[in-house]
Amino acid sequence: MSEYDYLIVGAGLYGATFARQAADAKKRVLVIDKRDHIGGNVYTESIENVVVHRYGAHIFHTNSERAWNYVNRFATFNRFTNSPVANYKGELYSLPFNMYTFNKMWGVTTPDEAKAIIEKQRDEAGITEPKSLEEQAISLVGTDIYEKLIKGYTMKQWGRECDKLPAFIIKRLPVRFTFDNNYFNALYQGIPVGGYTDMVANMLKGIEYRLSTDYLANKEEFESLADRVVYTGPIDAYFNYELGALKYRSIRFDTEVLDTPNYQGNAAVNYTDSETPYTRIIEHKWFEFGKDRNGDDIPKTVISREYSEEWEVGVEPYYPVNDDENAELYSRYKALADKEGNVIFGGRLGEYKYYDMDAVILAALDKASMALKGDFVVKW
Ligand code: UDP
Repeated sequence: MSEYDYLIVGAGLYGATFARQAADAKKRVLVIDKRDHIGGNVYTESIENVVVHRYGAHIFHTNSERAWNYVNRFATFNRFTNSPVANYKGELYSLPFNMYTFNKMWGVTTPDEAKAIIEKQRDEAGITEPKSLEEQAISLVGTDIYEKLIKGYTMKQWGRECDKLPAFIIKRLPVRFTFDNNYFNALYQGIPVGGYTDMVANMLKGIEYRLSTDYLANKEEFESLADRVVYTGPIDAYFNYELGALKYRSIRFDTEVLDTPNYQGNAAVNYTDSETPYTRIIEHKWFEFGKDRNGDDIPKTVISREYSEEWEVGVEPYYPVNDDENAELYSRYKALADKEGNVIFGGRLGEYKYYDMDAVILAALDKASMALKGDFVVKW
């Protein structure tokens, strides 16, 4: 008999959710992570009393009561609402695209005026059925907004032209004909008070975990420890890149402590031109309204510039590249994964999917409930 029922590779949200469910079902669980901390990319750490999102800004938002109730078991959420500002060559615009954006761009004051301009620009571009991100963007908000607020940012973010990217990426952003700067269309939104690391620590309470532990370097040894494996690392790395490497986008964060209480007046400012080398600057203290744990103003500030880069072996993968070529390669890896009887592949990297946090948690809950019902069969 193996020492553990489940070996969970990766202590991010997918792994922590699965681990919690399995442990609550009285399974013997071991979680390992090659990093020296838990939390995966939602990891936060305190710098100068500011909770810093080390791997990029994470704002929890969901329409699912189930996901919201689940995370609230492990953390108290604040009422942070994401409303980034776009900076195009010194002109500031409200995001997501809404009446404030349209007013600044065209001077219009009513929804009908804004809609008429967008419709005219869409007609002039001759778009009926948008196929690419470019066509989808122009069809939603017209050419002016596409040129100033989408084109440069997207090219920097993905390292690809907008006509080579799928339309769904831009559909993540709401377009509103109201004066509402809330970036998300979600019933529930917020950030765990004190950061995500404490939340994940609560999820893993009472569960054994080992850090700085690389599964792929000692795969056979780890496999022998447990009956089943939940793998949340990159799917292509699991198979030793035997079909070739999937592409990912990576981000380099340049984080600085500044001796000023307020650098940019907002948590996120996106630089949407193509010349500025970074995509956005995050000023972390505004995720918690500029206050420390005791509710006092924090005298300094911490900012992170985000530089988007193509992934290569040795750097962190963040975003799967959802183009046709990579989708096809992923489907071939998926076919291999389906044949790995006792391994579940989950999460952004394990499923090569542009998942939001709530969707990751829901996917892990569903998979765990199937597995724990004894439904674990060779084919998923
Ligand atoms: N986007 C844009 N301009 C912006 C912000 C976003 O064109 O100022 C586009 C860009 O293509 C990006 C997509 O919208 O990849 C999704 O943005 P989101 O903020 O959801 O990305 P994430 O926070 O996951 O990096």
